[in-house]
Parts: sequence; C-alpha cells; structure tokens
Amino acid sequence: MTSLWDLPDFDEHELVHFVTDPASGLKAVIAVHSTHLGPGGGGTRFWHYARPEDAVRDALRLSRGMSYKNAMAGLPLGGGKAVILADEARTKTPELLAAFGRAVDGLCGRYVTAEDVGMSVADMVAISRATKYVAGLPVAEGAVGGDPGPHTSYGVFLGVKAAVKRALGKDSLAGLHIALQGAGSVASGFARRAAAEGARLSIADIDQGRAQALAAETGGTVVGVDEIMTLEADVLSPNALGAILTEDSIAALNVPIVAGGANNQLATRADGDRIQARNILYAPDYVINAGGIINVSTEFVGDGDQGTVRARIEAIPGKLEAIWRESAETGRNAAEVADAMAQRLIGRA
Ligand code: NAD
Repeated sequence: MTSLWDLPDFDEHELVHFVTDPASGLKAVIAVHSTHLGPGGGGTRFWHYARPEDAVRDALRLSRGMSYKNAMAGLPLGGGKAVILADEARTKTPELLAAFGRAVDGLCGRYVTAEDVGMSVADMVAISRATKYVAGLPVAEGAVGGDPGPHTSYGVFLGVKAAVKRALGKDSLAGLHIALQGAGSVASGFARRAAAEGARLSIADIDQGRAQALAAETGGTVVGVDEIMTLEADVLSPNALGAILTEDSIAALNVPIVAGGANNQLATRADGDRIQARNILYAPDYVINAGGIINVSTEFVGDGDQGTVRARIEAIPGKLEAIWRESAETGRNAAEVADAMAQRLIGRA
C-alpha cells in the first residue's frame, strides 16, 4: 500500500488529523497544508464518500487548494480543510457537530473552520459552542460575517466577466449563453447576477428541484447533468463538485471559457495542459472562488469592514488577468502559472 506521505496529494502537509468519536459517530479528517502565512483557514465539507480513502484525498486536495487560494487572495491565512464523513443518510446531529468543534479546538488555532458543501451557518454556530476557531457566523446587519456563499458568487461573477473580456472582447454578459453546473449556494448567486446582466442560462443539478427553482427565478433552462458538460455555450461555469475536467470531458467541451466556483475542477495536473491545448480560457478555481474565504478571513482576523471585503473581492479579476498574461507569455497553462505564483507566496517554490 502507498504510504500517506507518498500520496500525490500529500504534498508536505504540515498536519493531517484523523478524528473518531464513537459516542456521536463522528469521523472526520482535518488537513492543514501550510501555516506559513497564518492559521490554516478553510471550510468543512460534510459529504458521504464511497470509501474513506476518497475523504482523505478530498481533504488533502482541498487543503492544499486553500493554501494556494489564501496566498493568492493576499490573506493572512495558511491553508486547511476538514471533511466530515457523513453516513448515507447524511445524518447530522448536535452531538456530532459538538465533537467536531472539540476536535478543531484541540488543534489550538492551527486550523480555523467555516462553511463548505453540506455545512450551514447554523452548523457553524453549533461548532462555535466548542471552539473559537470558527468563522462564517451570523453577525449584526452591516458587520462582516455570515454565509460566505454570496461573496464567492460575487467573485465568480467578476471572474467570469474578466474571462469574457479576455476571450471574447466583451464588457458585458448580455446575450451570452452560460452553461451552469450546479444550482446551489455559489451557482445561484452567480446566476442571479449573470441573468440580471442579460445572460441566458442553461442549468444542471443532480437535485432537479434546485435546478428548476433557479431556472424559474433566472429565466433559464434546465438541462441534464451529462449534457451540461458538452453544451455549446460561451462559458461553462462549474459550481458543483471537483474533478470534472478530465481527459474525456475536456475533449468534449464546446465552450471557449471555463470559469466557475467549484474547487479542484481539474482532475489531474495534465488536464491544465489539455484545456490549454484546446484553446479554452480557464480561470484557476482557487483564484476565482476566493470571495468566500476573503469574507471569512476578514471576519476572523477582524481587519476590515464590508467595504474592505468588497475591495478585496474586486481584486480577483486583476489576479486572473495577471495569470492569463503570464500564461500567454510563457506558454505554461493557467493552472500551472497560478500554482507557481501561490508556491512563491507560501515559500514552497
Ligand atoms: P452547495 O451544496 O450549495 O451546492 C452544490 C450543488 O451542486 C448542489 O445543489 C448539488 O446538488 C450539486 N451537484 C452535486 N453534484 C453534481 C453534479 N454531478 N452535477 C450537477 N450538480 C451537482 O455548495 P456551494 O457552497 O454552492 O459550493 C459549490 C462549489 O463551490 C463546491 O465545489 C465548493 O467547494 C465551492 N466553493 C464554495 C464556496 C462557498 O463560499 N460556498 C467557496 C469556494 C468554493
């Protein structure tokens, strides 16, 4: 068996914490990739994995992604991520969340948690009863905090517009066709903004009800979950789960731009080259989707107000443009350029 240290995704993680709490049924992995720039900040995913190995791999990949994301966003945070291994019914109890909060607390601030897929603001409140190392908490009107999703959506919207400007030379999304994968928190915030600017949306989600509700709200059309990946459109915006860009799926893409909020969109490093070889402009996921962690960081560190959050999110397009420029100049694919920039920032170049 390959040792944990040899896993391609291990990548010199500072800490991988395996948690079991038989009383509550909690099984979790907390991964901290780097604390070079500050505490390892990143959300908790609550998901049912077919195999525990998949959960470990997810935690490692997501945690490294957070190191890179936080560094590129200029935040005083390292990178970490937690996954809670849900049962098939996705049973989430107060006891389980309390046990998870104690596990986070036991790391004494080396990891700071927040929401990710399957976790809500109410879950963060439950976790905060056991630890102070948590953000994404409800706050008074006008203060920084709460659900990071809308902030991620705003950054995705600005990043898609930057991609459209670069690849299609257009200043607006009006009249463009956007294929939207996912109809959850990030996708719906993005969809509302894109529709308000006049984009036409095709929407796919494994949860048909969600896709239908979002389509009804934005004047979009529901399409099948397989169909979305081959649809002829101006932009494919992945806002569901990771590893959707593979050798096969990239070969079948019918868009000039892939830009969306889902983490870890490229299944392997080679897929960054594949997407470039097809002349498709790719927005590195952890750069375009940093809006949520920008809000979380500003809440946790306490170094700004809502205006600061907005200004930090509005810096995302400039970062994407710098990546695309360097990619064009050097011939290296956009994902590789972003990784190299992030590695320099976290001292792992
Ligand atoms: P969410 O749970 O609200 O939405 C995810 C949606 O994807 C769900 O509606 C789900 O049914 C759907 N989905 C799952 N598998 C699918 C598939 N194969 N095809 C189509 N739809 C599918 O989660 P979210 O917060 O919107 O996050 C979406 C993505 O964005 C995730 O990859 C997450 O890691 C990433 N992200 C989220 C944030 C944030 O602030 N919430 C920040 C950065 C990155």
